[in-house]
Formats: sequence, C-alpha cells, structure tokens
Amino acid sequence: MSDHYERVKIELQQMKEVENEAAADEEQLSPASVSPIPADVSFTARRDLSKSSINGRSRSKSRSKADGHERQVNGKQLTDLMLQKSDYSQGQSRVSNEPNLHIKGTAKLFKGKTAANGHVESCKRQTDGKCEHHGKEDESKVAKKRRAVTVDTSKAKTSLEALKMSIRQLKWKEFPMGRRTACDIYWHGVSFHDNENIISGQVNKFPGMIEMLRKINLSRAVRTMQELFPEEYNFYPRSWILPEEYQLFSTQIRLLKDNDSTLKPTYIVKPDSGSQGDGIYLIRDPADLRVISGSQIKQAVVQEYIQKPLLIDKLKFDIRLYVLVRSLEPLEIYIAKEGLSRFCTEPYQEPSQKNLSHVFMHLTNYSLNVHSGNFVHSDSCSTGSKRTFSSVLYRLASKGVDIKKVWSDIIALVIKTVIALVPELKVYYQADIPPGKPGPTCFQILGFDILLMKNLKPVLLEVNANPSMRIEHEQEVSPGVFEYVPSPVDEEVKVGVIRDTLRLMDPAQRKQHVTSSTDGSPEEAIVVETGSDEKEGLADSLPSLCLKQVFPKYTKQFNYLRAVERIAAIFLRFLGVKGTMRLGPTSFRTFIRNCKLSNSSFSMASVDILYIDITRRWAGMLPDSREAGMCLQAFIEAFFYLAARRFKALPLREQVHLLLEVCEGALEGQSHSEKPRPHRSHTNPASSQSSAPTTFSSPALTRRRHRPLQLSAKANTEN
Ligand code: ADP
Repeated sequence: MSDHYERVKIELQQMKEVENEAAADEEQLSPASVSPIPADVSFTARRDLSKSSINGRSRSKSRSKADGHERQVNGKQLTDLMLQKSDYSQGQSRVSNEPNLHIKGTAKLFKGKTAANGHVESCKRQTDGKCEHHGKEDESKVAKKRRAVTVDTSKAKTSLEALKMSIRQLKWKEFPMGRRTACDIYWHGVSFHDNENIISGQVNKFPGMIEMLRKINLSRAVRTMQELFPEEYNFYPRSWILPEEYQLFSTQIRLLKDNDSTLKPTYIVKPDSGSQGDGIYLIRDPADLRVISGSQIKQAVVQEYIQKPLLIDKLKFDIRLYVLVRSLEPLEIYIAKEGLSRFCTEPYQEPSQKNLSHVFMHLTNYSLNVHSGNFVHSDSCSTGSKRTFSSVLYRLASKGVDIKKVWSDIIALVIKTVIALVPELKVYYQADIPPGKPGPTCFQILGFDILLMKNLKPVLLEVNANPSMRIEHEQEVSPGVFEYVPSPVDEEVKVGVIRDTLRLMDPAQRKQHVTSSTDGSPEEAIVVETGSDEKEGLADSLPSLCLKQVFPKYTKQFNYLRAVERIAAIFLRFLGVKGTMRLGPTSFRTFIRNCKLSNSSFSMASVDILYIDITRRWAGMLPDSREAGMCLQAFIEAFFYLAARRFKALPLREQVHLLLEVCEGALEGQSHSEKPRPHRSHTNPASSQSSAPTTFSSPALTRRRHRPLQLSAKANTEN
C-alpha cells in the first residue's frame, strides 16, 4: 500500500503541474495513435447502426454473459406504469391520468417533447414552484458555461459501443486512449483494478464485486441473511457449498428421501466460477455429483432445482434485469425499467431421469440455446427466444396476472440481495481505498438473473458483476458461420441503462436533498432528484431516466435488514485503515474489551480460543486467501456466537440485535471521548449524509436509535 501511496503522491504532484483546464480538456494521451473516433463527437440523433455494423467479425471465443437480443421494445409503457405503481410506493405513485401512456426511459430521443412526456411534467413542477422554465437561449448559455464531463473509455472493452453512444447523446467528452490528467468518470470493462492508477473521479466498478458475486460467495452472503431473516430471504433456493458441505448435503438428501419415499427432488450443480451455463448439470442423487470424481474436488454450489417454473408457450424462461448500485454509503440502488427475457428452446417438462441432460429444456442461457435448431430470432419483441421483459409482463397482464405485485416482489428481491452484499463490499472498499487516502468513488451496473415460479414468486438465480453490454448479437448467417449483427433491442435497453447511469453519476448533477437528521432516522435519508438534469439544458434532447430509484426510496421497509452491515461497521472499526481485510488476534481482543463483552464466565483466554477456532475453520474454507487473520464472515460467526451466549433463549435476530446495541452503545461512549480524526469515507461526493443503518429492529422489536457508527473513529494499529 505504501508504494501505491507514494505513486499516488507523485501523481497528485504531476496533476498540480497541469493546471490549465481548457488545454487539458483537449489533451488525449497519445495524439498520434488516437482512435479513429473523434474525441469530441457532437451529438447527432440516433446512430445509424447499419453504417458501423461489425458484420463479418469472427465468432468470439470469450463471449460475455448471456444477454438479450429482442429487436423492438413494446409494452415499455406497461413496465413503467408498473414501476411507478409498485406496492412500495406508498402513495408516491406518479401514474399519469392522461389518456396516452408515457414512454419513459427508452433510448429514443424526444426532441422538443410536448406535455405528454415525463420530463415536461417535471419542468412544470418547477415552474409551479420557484424555478423558472428556461428557454433555449438560457439553456445554451448554461451548456456553454458548463465544462463537458470527461469519460475515460480506454478500458471499456465490450461495452465500448454502447458507452460511446451514451457519451455522444450526453454531449460529454470521451477519452478513448485515456488521459494524462484526471477524468471525471472511468469506465472499466471488467473490474475496479482494470486501471490501478485512479486517484479521483468515479469508477464504474466496486472493488470486490466480482469476488462477492461468485456463486459460493453470493450463496454465503445470502445464507448469513437467511440465518437472521429466513422469511425475508426465501427467494434464494436452498444451496450447499462444495466440497465443504458435501457430507451435509448427502445426509440431508438421504433423510429427506427416507422420510418420504415419493419425493424425487432434483438439484442443479454450478461450478463456482462458471458462467453462461458452462459445467452446469442436474442430479437426483448426491452420488451423481461429478465434482467429487478424480483427486481434485472442484468448488461448486449445489442448489435445489425449481421444478415448477412459470412457462410461456410451454417454455421455461428467465429475466435479466439491470440494477445500478450508485453508492454504498449512503446505499443507493436503481432498477432499470426494461429488461430481457431469455427462453429455452425445448418445451419444458418436470425433471425426470430421462430428461435431466436436456439443456435446452432446463437452462435458459442464451449462449446455450442460440445453438439449438429451435432458437427463434424474431423481429418482434413479444415472440422468439429472446423478448423484452415488458412484453412478457404485457402478456401476463392480459391473462389477468397482478403484474404490479410481480414487480414489487422483484424490487424487494433486488434490494434484499444488495443489502446482503454490502457488508463485505464495504470491507473490500476500505481495503482498496482506505479512509484518508486519495481514491475514486465507485458505482456499478449489475445483471440480476431471476426466475419466476409457476406461482409467480421471483427466485434469484445469480447476479452478474459484468452483465453483457454488447449491442450486437451473434447470428448464424449460414451453417457454421457466425457473425455479430447490430441488435436494436440491445441498443434500446443497454444504451439507456449506460446513458442514464452516466446522467446519475454526472458530478455537476448530483444534488443533495437532505434534511439533516440528528438521530439518523431512515425516513430522512437522502433523496436524489432524478430530474435535475433538466436544469442544465440537456433534458430537452433526452428522455426521462430509465432507471428508477428503489433505495433509499424504500428505506423504511428494508432498513431493519441491515444488521450484518452494522456488524461489518464494528469489524471495520477494529480493522483499521491499513488496507487489510483480516482482523488480528489483538484487534479481536480489543473489540471484546472495548465492547465490554468479557466477564468472569467469559475470560480473555476463552476469547483467544474463540478467535483461533473460528479463524482456522474459515481459513480452511477460503484456501485461496493470502492474508492471515479473521475475515468478515468469521467475525460475523463469532458475533452470532457471542450474541447467543449472552442472550440465551431468544431468536437469533433478537440476540444479534441486542448485542449490536450493547457494542454500539459502548463504542459510542468511547467515540465521544476521543478526538475525531479526519477521514475519507467511501461516500459518494454528493452524499455526505451517512445512510448507515441505525437500527435493524423490525417493527416487532423495540426501537432505539443510535447515531451512525464512525467507521474510522479509532483505528486499531495492531497486526
Ligand atoms: P450461469 O452463470 O452459468 O449462467 P446460472 O446460475 O445463471 O449460471 O444458471 C444457468 C441457468 O440454469 C439459469 O439461467 C436457469 O435457467 C437455470 N437455473 C439455475 N439455477 C436454477 C434453479 N435453482 N432452479 C431452476 N433452474 C435454474
């Protein structure tokens, strides 16, 4: 870390030397080798894809994760309507009474829109209030005054096409070869670490997201939440982690079958690092696990197979939804109003010994089904093997399905899943960008894969850290010859998602609408005004946002689930700021001492034994880890143990809640007597008010409010 810090200092110095902003704006890293695409392309309506088609490109070996390729977007109005009417909106529904349904958030441009467009509605709101409606002249003045937002696209990889289009639409400035001075936004194709030298601005990846979304880690994170909130987290199929839980899995399945011999459960086995259906297979008996054959035991998740999915045209399908995590602190989540539905290509039958290997019947992956003779490339969004999600909803609505309920269940699933991921993400974040050191802030678009059960309950299959943002798709133009051809629907959905993500991350646009709260009440969380771009003269040429904020909007309903995040805040406090992710034994002792958790019946010797036992076991489960010490998951386990020990005979969630109160109370007392030290939290620039959960008591538990924990109030320097 110190080397890195030295580098950072040098770079900061270099940056100071390059002060002339105007000149710097024009500066591309390597003028001689600049990309054929001009850096400052002025906006011209929608790009003609046929002109820049990449037909004839040979078939890529490393295809990105399954994505959608429907060609038209219908029923978008419906999606929008449903999102606005979701069950959680609690009277905040803004559904229009106008006869025409509004088309919001598409990639289409509505130049000079009339009142039937959501943006103008919002302008009206401003006019009704204090803001004046700004005319074209004012807009161009504002636009002239405003420095174009700069985006480094040099690492964008397969999302480059969609990103370029988004930047052009926004009239921002692209740096395709990187830039010597800092950019406002860095767009990475794979990971936070694609470019190690960023010390300011915003990066479109969080450190640790790829790791957290591997199948085993996602299962672990959800499982921790299931221990505390089994009802709330029943949207994730029961899973076992291999190889460590092979015995447990075998025993539980045997018991199940012994108890009821008519039961014929099926399980799906997924390699930990697999994607696009690679290496996935179905089994009906633990003995059929292929991962235990040979000397090498592969890491995998074995999961209860959902036997009764919702079918359309007798086919199984899943949903790809795009979700933006705009910030971890405060937590801000957006969901794209349009998604994709990927269909199987063989009529579905419940699993039987005969059909277990029929991948085209059981797996919805585009990357697999595209090779089936039955794959239908359709020009319509509502037929074929890949459709828009809104077209599916439209179809369901026509059959009387309560799609408003389906949407609100999906929103809940997304928020709960992100809440499960946040604790560990914060640990990664602090390790990479410790408080007090220069670094960027982060945001990330995730791809949620969701299955609807026959009873319409959404089930989480997986979350992709790098959902494909390709806007072209692979097509077999003649037998065995594949080409990439432009996909208008991909463009429609994905350019909208990227462009509106950028709009939300625009440094000049991010505005705070915070009513300061002395007690950290979740009801008073930050609200981002998504229509703020209208004040900058851009909205006239852009549709309203296709991303809908769901958190903090629904904070009230979900904040009580953020218990593990509070445990992580304690962990981080004792971890200190040295860029590590593991707690040493002395730090653990300090935690016990500072929180006053030891007593005559729980001596410091017992504390040491607890530390060693749990840390060793987790070290065995995480063989790849290079760092020694106690990881967050181990700390959580220790915390649960301490809670159960101290508050016997209560349900775990209440035990944990009470222990959190004890710890936070003790630490708060100490914080008050300590000198505050300056620190840089992993807060996005415009979001200075922490939204850290202050209580996780559900309505059933007594409420006692605490101030948010100061993550770096006292860094322990042990280790
Ligand atoms: P990958 O990353 O390889 O695509 P997924 O977890 O998405 O792995 O699984 C691939 C496909 O298998 C999914 O798209 C879905 O069709 C099917 N699938 C996955 N998990 C389940 C499950 N628990 N029940 C039923 N089908 C599943």
